[in-house]
Amino acid sequence: MNAEIIAVGSELLLGQISNTNGQFLSRELAELGISVYYHTVVGDNKKRLEAAIQIAEKRADLIIFTGGLGPTNDDLTKEVVADHLSFPLVIHQPSLDHIENYFQKVNRVMTDNNRKQALVISGAHVFKNDNGMAPGMIKSKDCIHYLLLPGPPSEMKPMFTNKAKELLVNLKGEFSVLHSKVLRFFGIGEAQLETEIKDLLDKQLNPTIAPLAENGEVTLRLTAMANTKSEAKNLIEKLERDIHERVGQYLYGYDDSTLYSQLVHQLSLRNQTVTSAESLTGGLFQRELTSINGASAVYNGGLVTYSNEVKMTILGVSKDILHEFGAVSEQCAISMAKNAKRLFHSDYSVSFTGVAGPTQLEGKEVGTVWVGVSTPTTTKAYSLNLSGSREGIRNRSTKYGAFYLLKELQKG
Ligand code: ATP
Ligand code: MG
Repeated sequence: MNAEIIAVGSELLLGQISNTNGQFLSRELAELGISVYYHTVVGDNKKRLEAAIQIAEKRADLIIFTGGLGPTNDDLTKEVVADHLSFPLVIHQPSLDHIENYFQKVNRVMTDNNRKQALVISGAHVFKNDNGMAPGMIKSKDCIHYLLLPGPPSEMKPMFTNKAKELLVNLKGEFSVLHSKVLRFFGIGEAQLETEIKDLLDKQLNPTIAPLAENGEVTLRLTAMANTKSEAKNLIEKLERDIHERVGQYLYGYDDSTLYSQLVHQLSLRNQTVTSAESLTGGLFQRELTSINGASAVYNGGLVTYSNEVKMTILGVSKDILHEFGAVSEQCAISMAKNAKRLFHSDYSVSFTGVAGPTQLEGKEVGTVWVGVSTPTTTKAYSLNLSGSREGIRNRSTKYGAFYLLKELQKG
């Protein structure tokens, strides 16, 4: 099976937005073993869209459209495809109910053009839109499949991954079930991770392995196709064991979890608590942690001790440490972590002190950071040399703090 993606929208041609839908779908299709030979971008124009469809049909057996399913006059993808295939548009009652319910719920008047969103190509398989109003659909004719998806990425992506993807696997015919699992890594760069698993990447077929680097983290999405769910899961488990053997020490979680949600989860499983004393991160760690559901069970509070004076008077870091080693030092990080743990009667604590930039501090380079970690039995500090912007340095420092704590929890 080979595919062409047609992104519809004049704003794409005007350069107002970029075609991230095309990028997303290409990556997804590669995982399914469906080759994408062409990306087409066309404006909101009937004649030119019709021409694009005619060209695509000559070279693809799956044509995926994104955009132009909305209520306004310039949204014409459905109309053009229906016309082209000589099928009428018909009202899809469940979609109409979904749209009417929405308007009732937000107490707004529904206009006629909103009804238009409930129109689908007669006989198409319809995908409910869980994040918006316009449904997606797939219709086949003369061995060519036409898949229509909404334009907004927040609607298109979940509709594709949760609904359309498995249907495409079925259409391909070889397998009937698709199963994915995301492995989340921290503390290892994308290049190093790919080197460690190069042979697995080279021979990947089923499951496929899709690496992605984002926000200082790396993920691997494993996707298996099989004929039963358990077969697919077994394939993934086997590959996961291989990956774990090589880079398991950097693995911190799965699927939608984050370093912070993992930390809250692991601490609550153990009925333990954590606190923090922060200098360069100014409370970022505490903000990230408290944004997680259930944080109150594991976190009583923490301190932001920005100036040396407050480090001494409130946190009890000794004058000697600050004089001899400075605030950006292993000794200070250890003292901050230890004292915070005692003050808050918590089981664990983490401290952050360093130079976020843009200028040096105490003669120490920008990006020099010490992260102190205190457990019920030990306290130590880790040294980091980070690069990038002030915000980037602060963000990664807090992530390292969460990561080191998680590693301690795994030991205990
Ligand atoms: P709506 O119901 O919001 O009108 P729609 O299915 O009609 O959705 P469009 O009107 O074509 O879709 O696009 C709506 C918005 O979705 C665009 O303004 C843009 O922000 C985003 N969008 C559309 N196409 C793409 C694309 N190819 N890549 C990234 N974003 C896109
Ligand atoms: Mg629109």
